[in-house]
Amino acid sequence: MPANTHYDVIIIGAGPAGTTAAALLAEKGRRVLVLEKEKFPRYHIGESLMPYCWFTLNRLGLVDEMHKRAFTKKYSVQFVTPDGHQSQPFYFFQHYDHPSAVTWQIERSEFDEIMLANARNKGAEVCEQTPVQRVLKDDSGRVIGVEAKGPDGASFHFYAPVTVDCSGRDRVAKGREGWFNKDPMLNKMAVWSYWRGAKRDPGIDAGNTTVAYVEGRGWFWYIPLKDDVISVGVVAEKDYLFSDSKDPAKIMEREIGRNAWIKEHLAGGTQFGEYWVTAEFSYRTKHPAQDGLLLAGDAFAFLDPVFSSGVFLALKSGELAADAVDAALTAGDTSGARFEQYGATLCRGIENMRKLVYAFYDENFSFGKMIKAHPEQRGKLTDCLIGDVFELDFTELHGAMRQFAELPAELPYGYKV
Ligand SMILES: Cc1cc2nc3c(=O)[nH]c(=O)nc-3n(C[C@H](O)[C@H](O)[C@H](O)COP(=O)(O)OP(=O)(O)OC[C@H]3O[C@@H](n4cnc5c(N)ncnc54)[C@H](O)[C@@H]3O)c2cc1C
Repeated sequence: MPANTHYDVIIIGAGPAGTTAAALLAEKGRRVLVLEKEKFPRYHIGESLMPYCWFTLNRLGLVDEMHKRAFTKKYSVQFVTPDGHQSQPFYFFQHYDHPSAVTWQIERSEFDEIMLANARNKGAEVCEQTPVQRVLKDDSGRVIGVEAKGPDGASFHFYAPVTVDCSGRDRVAKGREGWFNKDPMLNKMAVWSYWRGAKRDPGIDAGNTTVAYVEGRGWFWYIPLKDDVISVGVVAEKDYLFSDSKDPAKIMEREIGRNAWIKEHLAGGTQFGEYWVTAEFSYRTKHPAQDGLLLAGDAFAFLDPVFSSGVFLALKSGELAADAVDAALTAGDTSGARFEQYGATLCRGIENMRKLVYAFYDENFSFGKMIKAHPEQRGKLTDCLIGDVFELDFTELHGAMRQFAELPAELPYGYKV
């Protein structure tokens, strides 16, 4: 346990959001404490990166380290119909000439360890196997710190003018306080596992993410990792997935039979390890902040993973949170109101991705159909798919998408309680 009890910032959780915020704040000279419930390295889902992850990784000084590792290089995404018809891979480098156009498929155990080491090296204090039990509040309701349990079971109180909840889908700070808003149309579940020796496409296509449709039902991800491993998952409505069995292995086998490309690619491979299941409904908490507290990454919002946006949004929100917290500490004002701009920026980017996800699930929509009718929107669509969703104006793209799909109203949010 750390000798100190008082810090400038407490960060709950050492996923990509938490370690980004921790590294950047420590770099700015802030006294940062990271509390993580697990011992690293630990397994985590979220293996396919979006090209725009590069910019946060570059700011963290980690691009060279990423190149040194054996992570699979991802040049493109491709889509496959249920009968096995494969689209042309969509190569990011055809859209823009920048190092970020080649991204990675990552083992999260290794990636998150790199990120955590970086936060430590920059000066953040890190306690693993130290779950946060609850946030501490003063009489006015302001968050003033956290209570955490150390590896030996003893409880500790830590204090800081601001706590950043990066605890992922556990949502430690706000999970139980009525801030939770489900995204009603994106109520899906996922079943996934790993295969060795399954087929890879040749050349630079060997690292493609493939999104393979299950007729009218859902989709598969097929993500090639290193050491000849492929991550394969199926995402669909719960009632459909669990219609005739509760056994994830049986469900997976049934679904593999429903996509000719997946079946053919897995035919020579061997499944290993456990089958994982998650209810992965999308959500957004109502507020990104309150006095003394900020939410980042999945602790703030989770979006259906069809476009691999989760780690990107975690990195980006960790970065935005670090800048907002640093400015708030300098101003001596860590009230919820201070974080209004942080929430507005984050929500704008998430809403742009969210519209794309809704279109994906609309049976009247296909990217091919939309681009045929509106070839001038290809560039903007690509901007969205690579993660350039925070600065650009997508009004015209959304207009074109609306001709084929019903797009959702923005989820309501307020910057503070
Ligand atoms: C089925 C599925 C597939 C996905 N596929 C992709 C993909 O291909 N690409 C992609 O980019 N994203 C994907 N995602 C999303 C991605 O996993 C998340 O968006 C990303 O991990 C969010 O990062 P984070 O830092 O916010 O949270 P996390 O990565 O979840 O990290 C949170 C950390 O907080 C810790 N923690 C939790 N509770 C406590 C506590 N009480 N005290 C202390 N520590 C705590 C956890 O142990 C964890 O280390 C997928 C998600 C799902 C469910």
